[in-house]
Amino acid sequence: MSCPRCDHPEVTNLADSPVPGVWHVLQCARCRYTWRTTEPKRRTDRATYPDAFRLTLADITSADEVPAVPPLESRA
Ligand SMILES: [Zn+2]
Repeated sequence: MSCPRCDHPEVTNLADSPVPGVWHVLQCARCRYTWRTTEPKRRTDRATYPDAFRLTLADITSADEVPAVPPLESRA
């Protein structure tokens, strides 16, 4: 198995279904894409993941900005 979004082979298991073996939540070690194994193939399978949302290593290393977290709103 590899990441549907960036095709990286290192995928870690984050969580398992309360009823064993029903689903797992997986996360890519490179791009942090996270998915549940019961989601549709277009979200869980590299072969059918939409081209518009795919990432390559070059896309990731050349990304120059991570969106900033806005300041908290004041309650005063
Ligand atoms: Zn990835």
